[in-house]
Amino acid sequence: MEEMSLKVYNSLTKKKEEFVPTEKDKAKIYVCGPTVYDYIHIGNGRAFVVFDVVRRFLRYLGYDVTYVMNLTDIDDRIIERAERENTDTQTITVKFIEAFFEDTEALGIERADIYPKATDHVQDIIELIQSLVDRGLAYQVNGDVFYDVSTFASYGSLSGKRIEDLVAGSRVAVDESKKNPLDFTLWKSQKPGEPGWQSPWGMGRPGWHIECSTMSMKYLGQTFDIHAGGVDLVFPHHENEIAQSEGATGKKFVKYWLHNGFLQIGGEKMAKSLGNFKTVREILKKVPTEVMRLFFLQKHYRSPIDLTDQGLQAAGSAANRLNRFYQKLQDMVMTEAPLEEESLNEKELQVLNTHRRLKSELVEAMKDDFNTPVAVSRLFDMVRELNALLTKDNLMDGERALLSQAKQDIEEVDSFFGFLRSKGSGANSELVNGLMEILIDVRKELRSRKIWDLADKIRQELDKNNIALEDKGQETAWRVK
Ligand SMILES: [Zn+2]
Repeated sequence: MEEMSLKVYNSLTKKKEEFVPTEKDKAKIYVCGPTVYDYIHIGNGRAFVVFDVVRRFLRYLGYDVTYVMNLTDIDDRIIERAERENTDTQTITVKFIEAFFEDTEALGIERADIYPKATDHVQDIIELIQSLVDRGLAYQVNGDVFYDVSTFASYGSLSGKRIEDLVAGSRVAVDESKKNPLDFTLWKSQKPGEPGWQSPWGMGRPGWHIECSTMSMKYLGQTFDIHAGGVDLVFPHHENEIAQSEGATGKKFVKYWLHNGFLQIGGEKMAKSLGNFKTVREILKKVPTEVMRLFFLQKHYRSPIDLTDQGLQAAGSAANRLNRFYQKLQDMVMTEAPLEEESLNEKELQVLNTHRRLKSELVEAMKDDFNTPVAVSRLFDMVRELNALLTKDNLMDGERALLSQAKQDIEEVDSFFGFLRSKGSGANSELVNGLMEILIDVRKELRSRKIWDLADKIRQELDKNNIALEDKGQETAWRVK
């Protein structure tokens, strides 16, 4: 059977296309990162998880992947927050960059190869703006520099918007200094009290869009393979990135644009004003990493997703089922046994063939624009097929070899899913279990000696860390809340 090639849905052409990278066997990916003025919200979390899976799957297919994610560390919102908290912008950005790394790690996301910061690239940004000015695509008014969208014929091709419609529908107050209301800022002149850098147009700071054009091309080249982000970034951010980059280089900027769908909460748009705004760290206090990832990946990345308690619970029991299965598999297959098909009986051979078919369907689904809902359901089909063997007390050699193969396969596909709890981490690990046993023992001892305050302290401190103790007769159980 001929293997299917990887297909990705390109937002630019609105079609699924075969993935053909600019350089053979390499994949260069840029994902728009956070503006570091607050904790990342669960919608950001979804985007970072789905593109983490895209990256890992490309690596699984054998591509040498370079993955770049920018950190926007100069922005109006950062300046506002610094003013509100009576501090400087750096104090804000250092704090939230650290929080960003903690939160993405807690989501099981692998680190990018490069995390360029805007403030480290101001010179590069100035050079790109200057080349746009030199080419007559940008103009300066009183220390501000704007991109002249009328000079870029294909402006609007990514978002499918026409300049005339945008102008007519534009509700932004007309800025007298701009030639056209759609012209966007490349360089902002410095206002009193704001951070600023020297430039040919005076003191000021870069706009957001030009930052991504500059840093993506600097690290991945003038034409690279995948540019990704949330669907809310299509317009104006990504539209403007194309205009800036292609305007400056005259070359195609990005081959494939990937956008993930919106995240809603209980059927409503997530917004601070609606009081349903959820940060990643808030949710991860209650929801383990693998459950969050499974919840996201049960939906296709381009579809909207609705975060509900029921949805999380369902993902939770599925993740538990998978991990219980994997735990058992690990216990039963202590040593790796080579699989010799000729030694299998007919029934074992049948199980093996079904297992292989499911695994190949899983991979094919991933190759079809990262169809994770189908891929995840194939993984659970694999678990169901193999479960029958795990209930046996004595395994035949053939069965053991088969399970050993299955274990390898499941670990292999988990290299891009990230659903399996690693030993030594997660609430059910041996280490945590062992430590909890010690604490429960000490508390029991304290109670028997009537040292109530210390015994209560153990309960209270555990409670603060979301661990509940439940006394049932002589026994005490614990659970993560
Ligand atoms: Zn960006």
